[in-house]
Amino acid sequence: MHYDHIVIRYGELALKGKNRKIFIHQLHENVRDKLHAYPNVKIKNARDRMTIMLNGEDPSPIIEKCKVIFGIQSLSLAIRVDNDVELIKEAALFALNKALHVKTFKITTKRANKEFPIGSQEFNHVVGTHLLTNTTDYTVDVHKPDLELHIDIRKDATYITSQKIKGAGGLPVGTAGKSLLLLSGGIDSPVAGYLAMNRGVQIEAVHFHSPPYTSEAAKQKVLDLAKELTKYGKKVKVHIVPFTALQSKIHREIPYGYSMTVMRRMMLRISERIADNEGILSLITGESLGQVASQTMQSMHAINDVTRYPVLRPLIAMDKESIISIAEKIDTYNISIRPYDDCCTLFVPKAPKTKPKRDKVVYFEEQMDIEKEMQDIFDGIKVVTVSHNTKAIDPMDDLF
Ligand code: ATP
Ligand code: MG
Repeated sequence: MHYDHIVIRYGELALKGKNRKIFIHQLHENVRDKLHAYPNVKIKNARDRMTIMLNGEDPSPIIEKCKVIFGIQSLSLAIRVDNDVELIKEAALFALNKALHVKTFKITTKRANKEFPIGSQEFNHVVGTHLLTNTTDYTVDVHKPDLELHIDIRKDATYITSQKIKGAGGLPVGTAGKSLLLLSGGIDSPVAGYLAMNRGVQIEAVHFHSPPYTSEAAKQKVLDLAKELTKYGKKVKVHIVPFTALQSKIHREIPYGYSMTVMRRMMLRISERIADNEGILSLITGESLGQVASQTMQSMHAINDVTRYPVLRPLIAMDKESIISIAEKIDTYNISIRPYDDCCTLFVPKAPKTKPKRDKVVYFEEQMDIEKEMQDIFDGIKVVTVSHNTKAIDPMDDLF
């Protein structure tokens, strides 16, 4: 006897109607993609849960991978046996003996298969008695047991599960459309991407890169961050925008104090156009109100003015401490704090306007040929697709 299955519960997916099917289908696809390295496993969906048949694979790494996939409420190791009383008793005894730190238990039988001859209450007793007679250290506690053993009697077979492992929750990535994440090398934007993914959003990323002011290593950092994000959902397409020429020009030609606002507006214009080309309907940034000069209400207003796309700001009301604790949890923090300048710290004027005036920004921009600048940039954009099983990401010497 051994654990030969993993049961995945959907949780929030317990939505009604047509969506449910779409969600389950997407989750199936995301799980299958993550388990790509285990060709023997078989994934099956039912209305209320998914089962992974292990076919001899070690469950631990598979559970680790599944634990972070959005749309999974909880997971359990399971034993599948025929609908046979003796086999079920034996499997329950195995599961109890395997469980750690347990003194009290409870049996909960669910008899979806009404052809099974024993009612669920009575069966709880039958199995409970079997466990008590065959062990010495356990007692039954129906109110607050250390372990709840579930016996799920279905048409095809019976599944015995014990400990529940908490899943990532949220909705399967891909069920809420796609969004373009402005991904700097900083701490905030990857966290913003992660939070949007939690609501089912699929991510593409855009990074504004300014060599030689920003190094190859800074770009690598962004690709590494994107790769971390693939753990929670799907692969991530990263658009790398050559930003040096335009940034230098802004720095030279736009009056002191307004250069950052103009630069941000250009970032949004370019992002919007990329989104448009990719059929993406919204943008995401890592802005949070009041963090720095570009993140005041007036500044956001002046910057946001150039786009008709919704700009999602999942961190808007979060303080730095909470953002950092998420970054640590999702393993992006140590990448984000690698010491390379991002293009913005380099060009940020000592005293950017915290309350830029919209008319002034527009006036200054009229001195530039924005359409031509955009065109020059679009000719040089490079795209890299990062996936969770990308071994080492190319140094991409050919990029810029
Ligand atoms: P982060 O930690 O994400 O870098 P930040 O606190 O440094 O954010 P800003 O520098 O004001 O804040 O940037 C605000 C947002 O603008 C970032 O969260 C990111 O979404 C976007 N952004 C800034 N620089 C870049 C860049 N070089 N490429 C892509 N997006 C960028
Ligand atoms: Mg930054």
